[in-house]
Amino acid sequence: MDLGLKGKVALVAAASKGLGKAVAWELAHEGCRVAICARGEAELRATANQIAGATSAEVLPVPCDVTQPAEIEHLVRAVVGRWRRVDVLVNNAGGPPTGPFEGFDDAAWQAALELNLLSAMRLCRAVLPGMRERGWGRIVNITSVMVKQPGPGFALSTAARAGLVGLAKTLAADYAPYGITVNNVCPGYTLTDRVRQLAQVRAEREGKTEAEILAGFEAQIPAGRLGQPEELAALVAFLASERAAYITGTTIQVDGGYTKGLL
Ligand code: NAD
Repeated sequence: MDLGLKGKVALVAAASKGLGKAVAWELAHEGCRVAICARGEAELRATANQIAGATSAEVLPVPCDVTQPAEIEHLVRAVVGRWRRVDVLVNNAGGPPTGPFEGFDDAAWQAALELNLLSAMRLCRAVLPGMRERGWGRIVNITSVMVKQPGPGFALSTAARAGLVGLAKTLAADYAPYGITVNNVCPGYTLTDRVRQLAQVRAEREGKTEAEILAGFEAQIPAGRLGQPEELAALVAFLASERAAYITGTTIQVDGGYTKGLL
């Protein structure tokens, strides 16, 4: 299937590793010019070189902490300065801490909202005027299955991401007349450093090994295994494509059947 992505300019946030990296790789493979960001410059540059080497795509690494408004402005300026536009925006960031609700003070809540809601809002605000002028755009937010099936200890993640899903639904309606779609994808347990780190925290708390915790995750997944980052990236690339022009305002999980609800 030709996704019609050749020559498009994509900006993938938080993409030095994990899901963001897999998405950047997939979009580069589909012929996009891809800008990626993360806080650590060395790993970001190494990832950019790796993707460019494997796909022959142009990859622009721009160091950026997505919780810092000035750095977001600099990021978008750098991409527009290089390629004149952003056609595809993939919002992503690290995950907030997990743990008992009573352990989170105002600072923890503010930090989670900056990381998983306001960063995406600011990136949308920066790229939407250009997309509207050109009459074409794709925004995909990487959220979590926690917005469909909240779990214990995930208060920060669930609340911030539910806010982002609400924002996306509103933007989908506001910008559909301009050929712009806005969708959310929800990773279930997917094998990245984030999941290994969650498993480590749980293992320490419960006096178990990391392998036991990961096996416990797998036992909750009808597919019987954790997901691979590429499996989420394939959906993001489709939603970013010309083919997905009539799909907007959706929230789709990639979770091996983990989510139990009907919708
Ligand atoms: P990861 O830890 O493997 O990678 C996170 C990426 O984000 C890295 O490139 C890191 O450098 C970057 N990053 C972190 N904070 C940043 C910041 N402030 N500014 C810029 N870049 C930043 O995580 P992942 O598994 O790829 O997860 C991506 C997102 O998906 C996270 O929000 C995570 O909570 C969510 N998620 C992941 C899973 C999973 O199973 N992997 C499940 C549900 C939700």
